[in-house]
Amino acid sequence: MTKHGILGLLLFCLPSFASAQDEVFDLHVHLWQGEKSLREYTEQLQSTHQTVARHGAIHMAVKGEIAETRRKNDELIELSKRHPKLMPIPSVHPLDGQAAIDELKRLAGLGVKLIKLHPHTQGFAITDPKVRELCKLAGELGVAVLFDNFNIVPGDSQNLFNLAIGLPKTHFVFAHIGGLNFRFWNSLFMARTAKDFFFDNIHFDISATMVLVADSPLEQEFVWTLRNVGIDNVMLGSDYPQLTLKQTLDALEKLDLTAEEKQKIRWGNANRLFPDKR
Ligand SMILES: [Zn+2]
Repeated sequence: MTKHGILGLLLFCLPSFASAQDEVFDLHVHLWQGEKSLREYTEQLQSTHQTVARHGAIHMAVKGEIAETRRKNDELIELSKRHPKLMPIPSVHPLDGQAAIDELKRLAGLGVKLIKLHPHTQGFAITDPKVRELCKLAGELGVAVLFDNFNIVPGDSQNLFNLAIGLPKTHFVFAHIGGLNFRFWNSLFMARTAKDFFFDNIHFDISATMVLVADSPLEQEFVWTLRNVGIDNVMLGSDYPQLTLKQTLDALEKLDLTAEEKQKIRWGNANRLFPDKR
């Protein structure tokens, strides 16, 4: 082929290639005040010239406030119907016992694929039998569990690891990949070598932590960790409103990963795990 022919072919291929590269799934977005927060999130995207193809929308349930939990959960589900980019990530409080179980079943019936639990903010112990019971049921219902994992609570990663290996049918997403204790998760590399022990049900979002470690002395070790847990299990999130999506994408660009690895983290993995079936 002539030089011009090759150039013509490249130019022809470029636009579609570029747009596939640009697709972003921002898994970790807190919409504390429903539609108002969604508007602010969208304004943040516009003012920083970012686009998203899909994004999560998180609520966190407060113990004992069942009616309010339901109302907030419904608010997110309702928003997702009017805003197809939005994936609802509602919540229950594990210590609400039967009410939490009933709400989880109701959410699964409404098509919810991921719920959020936060041991520190919601005030429960990961080792509480009620947490295990709830997560077991989530797996049976085809609902994954997004767990905060910034290691604010002592033993956070260790307890989450034990919870997940005991419930191989439940898919977990550990948010922030352990914070600055991310090194712990390299253990998954070894867990995979033990026969019939670990069933690849652990995934991560690297929100906040990635912004912290990009351009830091820990950056290389962080990239090494992402490869040890498996790039296919790593997803991107901004943790809005604490951080913007632009801060997150800028941090991802700084990491010494291949273009293909970045694309998986930015979009491919989350979209594979949580396909939009509408
Ligand atoms: Zn969060």
